[in-house]
Amino acid sequence: MLSRILVSLGITIAISAALALALALMGYSFLKMFLLIFVLHFIAFGVLNYFTGVMTSIKMRRIQTEQLKLLSFQTAEVVCAACKESAIVSITLGEEESFECEKCGAKNNVVITAEAVLQTNPVSNLDPDLLLKDKIKLDVQQ
Ligand SMILES: [Zn+2]
Repeated sequence: MLSRILVSLGITIAISAALALALALMGYSFLKMFLLIFVLHFIAFGVLNYFTGVMTSIKMRRIQTEQLKLLSFQTAEVVCAACKESAIVSITLGEEESFECEKCGAKNNVVITAEAVLQTNPVSNLDPDLLLKDKIKLDVQQ
């Protein structure tokens, strides 16, 4: 890690020195140009890092959206309305689905219906003492 930083810093210094030398030959101050280019390097790398980070986060968000799409994608086993052959079809909630029967070739639409069922308590939640008390209360009231 430290050697990578030193190599990177060495390259930065070498490029800065080379450019400053070229500018010094055109009459500019070598030291001023060297310092200016050296500092500009860090600003340029900072801006580059910032945009790389932004691009990475945009990509990550896109991947997460794709994953959420895949999560809403499910399959179900249905039977052909014409020949009763069963088929596995993909189901996406909120979208109309259809499939062609592999046996008879009939085109089927998939209809999703919703129904309600009563919630039930697990047997372990039933306290025999409380049940007995309720029974006694009912008996007393009668
Ligand atoms: Zn069929």
